[in-house]
Amino acid sequence: MKGTPPMDGIALPSIKFEPYWWDAARPVLQPATSLPPRVDVAVVGSGFTGMRAALELARAGRSVLVLDQDAAGSGAARRNAGYLGRVLKHSLTTLMKKHGEAQGIAMYRELGDAFTGVIELIERERIDCHFTRHGRFIAATSTKHYDALAIDLEPMRGHLGYPFEMVPRAEQRREFGSDLYHGGAIIPDLAAIHSGLYHQGLTERAKAAGAVISDGTAVTAVTPEPDGVHLVTDRGTVVARDAIIATNGYTPRGLSWLAKRVIPFQAYMAATEELSEAQLRDAIPNLRTMIDSNTNIDFFRPAPDSRRLLFGGGTGVPRGDATEIAAFLHGILRRVFPQLSTVKLSHAWTGYCAGTFDMMPHIGGRDHVWYGLGYNFAGIPMGTHFGAKLAAMIEGKAEGRSAFAETPFPTLPFYSGDPWFLPLAMRYFDWKDRKAS
Ligand SMILES: Cc1cc2nc3c(=O)[nH]c(=O)nc-3n(C[C@H](O)[C@H](O)[C@H](O)COP(=O)(O)OP(=O)(O)OC[C@H]3O[C@@H](n4cnc5c(N)ncnc54)[C@H](O)[C@@H]3O)c2cc1C
Repeated sequence: MKGTPPMDGIALPSIKFEPYWWDAARPVLQPATSLPPRVDVAVVGSGFTGMRAALELARAGRSVLVLDQDAAGSGAARRNAGYLGRVLKHSLTTLMKKHGEAQGIAMYRELGDAFTGVIELIERERIDCHFTRHGRFIAATSTKHYDALAIDLEPMRGHLGYPFEMVPRAEQRREFGSDLYHGGAIIPDLAAIHSGLYHQGLTERAKAAGAVISDGTAVTAVTPEPDGVHLVTDRGTVVARDAIIATNGYTPRGLSWLAKRVIPFQAYMAATEELSEAQLRDAIPNLRTMIDSNTNIDFFRPAPDSRRLLFGGGTGVPRGDATEIAAFLHGILRRVFPQLSTVKLSHAWTGYCAGTFDMMPHIGGRDHVWYGLGYNFAGIPMGTHFGAKLAAMIEGKAEGRSAFAETPFPTLPFYSGDPWFLPLAMRYFDWKDRKAS
């Protein structure tokens, strides 16, 4: 193929250009069944948000139909890195400055609830998804970032009791087998999961509770009418008392109010071939998840079910075909771990996340059309959490209240869902991070 980088030396001949998680939990299109003409709740999007909402509503006795244009879970839900954390793109200090101390703390407290909520859900529902709680290492990309990390994390300890430990550069190798960084911070109680198995478990529970899943069904319009919300699909129209839009980074332009507010961006990941135990323990001695301290992060974690590294970076910039993505990601592997430069990739893939103009998740609704999205990379805790919140909002329960429903959902003039400016924005973030070196 003209212009395609050679895969020799960087990828196994059997490389799969699909998520590593699909080896254990492949999304499979269900045979089409006829759509029910009316339901209590129609959910558009079958990721964490949609499936959690479906589970809660079906258990509450509602008739629930989940519609997805593709196989259930084949959006970001079964493509992500499986980091279960409790940080947003904005630090607690930034949110306290922007929204006032009480509101900033309320948002971070709710994020903490979302984090523990996933852990409790996994335990309660007995979802076997390789849950581990080895903590996270945030690697500082400069000495200024190292100092800033301590300044950002201290208020989280003070206001919320979240522990952390600074690791100076001289001791970094006990946490991460690379000399690229300038020390970092350990957050010892953060967790990780196998995203594919977690989503598969949620789907099985939602189905068992009575939710009907109609995948391979694209929704093209959602309109509130006097007799209910009309959802026009490529397989017919469904009328629902309430509709939930849970499309995050895959939100179609046709849902224009949301498309104007969501910034879809592409994220990239790869898996290495199996490493030796010694190679793995040299790279990530304590099996923690790792991110670096840049705005546009590189990240590495051990696979939960084999001796591989799963990693990614370079988010938001278009990168051509799958072989170019693999070549780009192998470059990150070599830069961070020169000792692994002959290790080959077994998988490389991409998926869409959703940013927002204020870099915050949003939840809300009107006229019986509800939404929860814009997770800015925190979709495992926040998507799962918003799914439950949306179900409670529809049920009119007090538990539906959310600190994230109280801020306006911003857009920009002339923006309709095509984020042409993203590569420029990413270059700006890279420049800002380099300036802090
Ligand atoms: C590579 C990568 C790594 C990530 N790593 C992490 C991580 O480690 N931790 C973390 O917390 N988050 C991470 N994220 C983000 C996280 O995966 C998402 O925020 C989360 O999956 C969002 O869940 P969701 O249910 O809202 O949306 P999704 O799981 O993306 O599901 C949206 C669904 O909507 C469907 N859809 C869209 N339009 C229509 C339509 N018109 N009709 C019918 N269906 C439609 C899509 O087909 C899709 O299945 C990562 C994302 C990516 C891509």
